Amino acid sequence: MSHVFHRHLHQQYPTAVGGDGPYLIDAEGRRYLDACGGAAVSCLGHSDAEVIEAVREQVGRLAYAHTSFFTNEPMEALADFLVERAPAGLSSVYFVSGGSEAVEAALKLARQYFIERGEPQRKHLIARRQSYHGNTLGALATGGNAWRRQQFEPLLVQVSHVSPCYAYRDQAPGETPEAYGERLAEELEAEIQRLGPESVMAFVAEPVVGATLGAVPSVPGYFKRVREICDRHGILLILDEVMCGMGRTGSLFAAEQEGVTPDLMTIAKGLGAGYQPIGATLVSEPIRRAIAEGSGFFQHGHTYIGHATACAAALAVQRAVEGRDLLSRVVSLGEGLQQRLEARFGEHPHVGDIRGRGLFRGIELVADRGDKTPFDPSRKLHAAVKRTAMDNGLMCYPMGGTIDGRRGDHILLAPPFILEESHLDEIVDKLDATLQTVFDPA
Ligand code: PMP
Repeated sequence: MSHVFHRHLHQQYPTAVGGDGPYLIDAEGRRYLDACGGAAVSCLGHSDAEVIEAVREQVGRLAYAHTSFFTNEPMEALADFLVERAPAGLSSVYFVSGGSEAVEAALKLARQYFIERGEPQRKHLIARRQSYHGNTLGALATGGNAWRRQQFEPLLVQVSHVSPCYAYRDQAPGETPEAYGERLAEELEAEIQRLGPESVMAFVAEPVVGATLGAVPSVPGYFKRVREICDRHGILLILDEVMCGMGRTGSLFAAEQEGVTPDLMTIAKGLGAGYQPIGATLVSEPIRRAIAEGSGFFQHGHTYIGHATACAAALAVQRAVEGRDLLSRVVSLGEGLQQRLEARFGEHPHVGDIRGRGLFRGIELVADRGDKTPFDPSRKLHAAVKRTAMDNGLMCYPMGGTIDGRRGDHILLAPPFILEESHLDEIVDKLDATLQTVFDPA
């Protein structure tokens, strides 16, 4: 018996022993095409020689030095790299070890900012339903995914949840995308008014929703309206780019495509591409300055802040993405993937929607294409898709529908940026075989 406390205690996992470009290899020598980057992590695949060498070199020189005693070169260089490329105004970076920690840091930076400014009454958070921002308690409270929250509800701080921007299901017949975005903006405004505008601290959202909806971008103009509303009321905008950031949607930051600059932005996953665990919160200059000129100390230390080896890995990853011009590949491969998915599944009786940006694509599975009825969640379709895909040598990231029927099961695809066109065919072929087995078992 394994002594590891596995997340799914009754599930058998193959043992991963190696990687070869976009493939993972198990102890039996089976190869799995990683069409989801694990959870949108492995943007350079699994055997990048340059990144491996950078990690080897850094760990040999200086593995780690606690940031209450020292700064370190890779951390400083990585912060410079990110700030030079981030939307203007984001002027410093707080480094942590993953996405949930980055979200926690953003929430606490927001709170401390208002204390430093003499606005301690600002404490309310607004986020969106069917969202995911991490599994630590603050991040879990922020997320609006009922299934993940359920048993921990008594431990969670109060957060208001408004509707996500989810055109496939929620844009009314005859409603333009602009009018739909405006309706959502009005809902946010109404919630701010209900709470009292001067008591609201921040609004949190993913520019392109990953885990909970399956690569759902917002309608044009939505985030611009959200930004205006936040500005009008002095509320901070926190964009969670843990999954959709670092090139995944075709620009380094997904916010660039919305034409907005957040006050705080969280990144992780693609930052270190899995070669080391790392996350970060990008901080706007007014927030940095308020804390610098106030108490001069952010009350939120972690042992592994700015871990030298993790920062060296992330720097090597980001230099590789830029140096090899991989973002233009993300755009062209993403279009190729969308076209292939539409050609193969566009008329599939159980495929309701195919969407996304760059190499971040989602397929929503429905019982009935006509009225978009989701499958009964008790059928656990997503689990069958995942299992069958693995049997077919394909890793994809399916998620279950909601109990209230507000969305169907979906499959998230987030493959490495280093794919060849032939890998796109392999993904679609293996997914096709998977759906045939799941829907028409012989
Ligand atoms: N935010 C978003 C948008 C995420 O997708 C995730 C992870 N799926 C997190 C936060 C949490 O990141 P981590 O699992 O690294 O803690």
